[in-house]
Amino acid sequence: METVKVILKQNRRKRLEQGHPWVFRSEIDRMEGELEPGKDLVNVVNHAGHFLAQGFYNAKSQIAVRIITYSQDPVDEKMFLEKIDQAWERRKWLRPQVTSCRVVHGEADFLPGLIIDKYEDVLVIQILSKGMEERRDWIINSINQIFKPRGIYERSDVPVRQLEGLEEREGFTANNFDTVVIVKENHLEIMVDVAAGQKTGYFFDQRENRAALKPFMTGWGKRRGIIVKDGIPTDKRGQVIKNPFWDGAEVLDCFSHTGSFMLHACLYGAKKVTSLDISESAIEMARNNALRNGFLHRTEFVQANAFDYLREQVKGQKSWDVVILDPPAFAKNRQAIEGALRGYKEINLQGMKLVRTGGILVTASCSYHLSAEKFLDTIQSAAVDARKILRLIEFRRAGVDHPVLLGSSETDYLKFAIFEVFDRA
Ligand code: SAH
Repeated sequence: METVKVILKQNRRKRLEQGHPWVFRSEIDRMEGELEPGKDLVNVVNHAGHFLAQGFYNAKSQIAVRIITYSQDPVDEKMFLEKIDQAWERRKWLRPQVTSCRVVHGEADFLPGLIIDKYEDVLVIQILSKGMEERRDWIINSINQIFKPRGIYERSDVPVRQLEGLEEREGFTANNFDTVVIVKENHLEIMVDVAAGQKTGYFFDQRENRAALKPFMTGWGKRRGIIVKDGIPTDKRGQVIKNPFWDGAEVLDCFSHTGSFMLHACLYGAKKVTSLDISESAIEMARNNALRNGFLHRTEFVQANAFDYLREQVKGQKSWDVVILDPPAFAKNRQAIEGALRGYKEINLQGMKLVRTGGILVTASCSYHLSAEKFLDTIQSAAVDARKILRLIEFRRAGVDHPVLLGSSETDYLKFAIFEVFDRA
């Protein structure tokens, strides 16, 4: 049987040639041959009949084809095993010490619609496309072969599956096991429940960004008037300061979830961290993680809506050395972008008002509908309204286990900025 051909229009954006692994229905001129029931592998060719790639066809989706390979090799379980193995080898090469990370980041690892996260000896999969759904057994077999995990949990409980004509699914892929895992990151122990946490349980994409907090967590004692004489810190009146974290920052960590930023702040010497989240279970998890790492006495926890809390603290003239804002994606689709921008502006506006002059604002957005440029514009416009001058120290993206394909802007979603905040009269 000849493989079914998807013939692309002559006048289209050369998206596929630019490395974008999706073919939209509107780009297709016609199809040659008919797919047998249950089959979805097609050859994508250009208008002149020149072979471009092989992909999985989905009649139910606007993304008609997702490219699986630019070669003519057989698309079989062996290919899946090799792709997943290569993705894992790449992580081990770039981050040899890391035991928990994203192993497969969908399109950017040439496995469109497949997420695999490794939580020590537990693997979590998320399947977002029909082509991957059809090959779920290959995926699970490959994971078992490469990692020999304690268990594999599926977190395909996301509404975008509807766009592919798929129902949501969540649960054990085989035997039951304890879904609570202690993840090791930058010498910290972080308790994560892969069955209950956000997304697949934790956010590996900010690993490097969390480590980037380090220099900003100390160096605040002098600004508070503490003098060091013969190695002994004293206050203005000459009283010796007993708190070993006297030089550490006072930090507000908003949208704290597992508390991963709070834990890093403590690890790097923060004096006190206030962790805020709207969810009771998130606060519980963050508190447990503080306890586990011996940071309980340097932390406090607030369960509140960040929008209300930030405004109230501004009114009460509270202030911090460092304010961290790591909100969920306010813009889940392009239509929601206007409302999302208002949300981002509001929390950044209030957040920066709470930063002492010369202090630090750490702010992130994981919404890929918001470009880096628009993100920075929004923060700048908040700064103007708040009468602040912002000086950018670092602008960062997702970590190396979340690679970015230059031809596919969807893979580049995370923005993370560190600013110094100054008052403007
Ligand atoms: N910084 C976290 C990840 C943030 S996830 C980490 O390091 O793991 C987003 C978090 O924001 C979730 O835990 C969610 O409960 C919380 N959240 C969502 N809306 C909120 C709101 N309006 N106020 C406070 N927290 C909110």
